[in-house]
Amino acid sequence: MKKNLFTLFCLSVLAMSVFAQARPKLVVGIVVDQMRWDYLMRYQSRYGEGGFKRLMKNGFNCENCQINYIPTITAIGHTSVYTGSVPSIHGIAGNSFWQDSAWVYCTGDKSVSSVGTDSEQGKMSPHRLLATTMTDELKLATNFRSKVIGVSLKDRAAILPAGHCADAAYWFDSKTGNFISSTYYMKDLPQWAKDFNNQKLCHKYLSEKWETLYPVETYVQSTADDAPYEYEYMKNMPNTFPYDVPKIYKETGPELIKSVPAGMKLTFDMAKAALEGESLGKHDDCDFLAVSISPSDYVGHQFGVNAVETEDTYLRLDFYLADFLKALDKQVGNGNYIVFLTADHAGAHNLSFLQDHGILGEPCDMSGITKALNKYLQEEYKVESKLILRNGNYQFFINHQAVADAGLKEKDVVKKSVEWLKRDNHFAYVADMEDLASSSIPQTIRERAVNGYNRLRSGAIQVILQPGSYGTGAKKNIKGTTHGCWNPYDAHIPCIFMGWNIPKGYTNREVHITDIAATICALLHVQMPSGCIGEPIEAIAK
Ligand SMILES: [Zn+2]
Repeated sequence: MKKNLFTLFCLSVLAMSVFAQARPKLVVGIVVDQMRWDYLMRYQSRYGEGGFKRLMKNGFNCENCQINYIPTITAIGHTSVYTGSVPSIHGIAGNSFWQDSAWVYCTGDKSVSSVGTDSEQGKMSPHRLLATTMTDELKLATNFRSKVIGVSLKDRAAILPAGHCADAAYWFDSKTGNFISSTYYMKDLPQWAKDFNNQKLCHKYLSEKWETLYPVETYVQSTADDAPYEYEYMKNMPNTFPYDVPKIYKETGPELIKSVPAGMKLTFDMAKAALEGESLGKHDDCDFLAVSISPSDYVGHQFGVNAVETEDTYLRLDFYLADFLKALDKQVGNGNYIVFLTADHAGAHNLSFLQDHGILGEPCDMSGITKALNKYLQEEYKVESKLILRNGNYQFFINHQAVADAGLKEKDVVKKSVEWLKRDNHFAYVADMEDLASSSIPQTIRERAVNGYNRLRSGAIQVILQPGSYGTGAKKNIKGTTHGCWNPYDAHIPCIFMGWNIPKGYTNREVHITDIAATICALLHVQMPSGCIGEPIEAIAK
């Protein structure tokens, strides 16, 4: 009897340990830059079965995923997805932000060198990121046996998700048209990456015109192709299909790949090359591939939400996504991997388009306002230097040195600036970030402002624009669009999980961008990242 009990005990311990270690073979994160949640619905009738629809039908769809901080910007979005944290904690306070008395780029790092190019574009690393990522935590949990790779055209979108301990991050070099890296990760590109670059796919893709997938008159979700709300690729080139990509390429060089759908294909091609080259999903321990799709952002900025170009970009993305999921099935086996798809932020409708349809929304000239504020402060305090250093991320940064030199107190300068800014009707709210408690700001917005405010890296004053408004120098005939605000059009993003141990279903309960890392960590049974404030989405990680 005793022996039997002992055997039972041993078996249950074994079962528990096997259970505790049970992980998928691979996790794949797909972040689609500037993808609004409603793009899942907006173009659904023309999506195929293998892409977005496959995720929605076979996965778990969090229909109400909100970004719980401002500003809603690329570097912050990618970082928050992977850290489960917010700028106040993870330190990535913008694409660029204030650090140690300088305005710095989020991943810029002069202490490392480019790998795979002689351009400066490889001098990048995650050294400004203060918290760990879920990819770091997977590494820590498996004593670094798990492989972690990040791939994107944008350096920041490859580097920040891949974390501090990644085997590699690869991004695009617009000088050569190749994927490159930095000495932070490696001394030399692996052979598979060199082979990939040698295919010269960027050049090949840019030798083809961009035509619509379907007859242009069938793009019923968009304004007519010759709409006035779009930026042009080149001076005097019409904003209509077909686009003479080879002609533009001659003018711009490889950089163009970022602004055409073919750049999405190129990114997935590289992700597939990494999948095979690094045998991801074929090791004893779980691997992680972080992919970010950038052209959707460039196309969005250039053409806006309601454009045939944007519609065609998502219809094409759906095809590329289907093909990529097939590649994952082949490499790892359907059900053996987890894939999640989300966005780093969404995007507003073009302001002129909104105005033409009777919807309020005023352009806000942030540089003009900064100049006027400086002039006001100079007159008020009778000083010559500019007391506001700059604006950025809808924040105003105080010139600490000039304020000290003038013998002024920063608190007073901030207070006076806030009072002056409040006279401007563009702003629904103006917040002194060190004194938010006394501002009459709705709780949701206040919380997002607090989460986005990093004491050492953000501006002292945050402005919240009226709904529909955004920062642009143009007063009328506004082209393209942007993002950065708290409003649903910028902050409501897709969030779908599919695969290993993921139930089918959906929820309309509010979840946050910060819950994604917490959920993946719960599914993998690894520690949450060091700054994680998100919670596992219970319906998924049971
Ligand atoms: Zn972005």
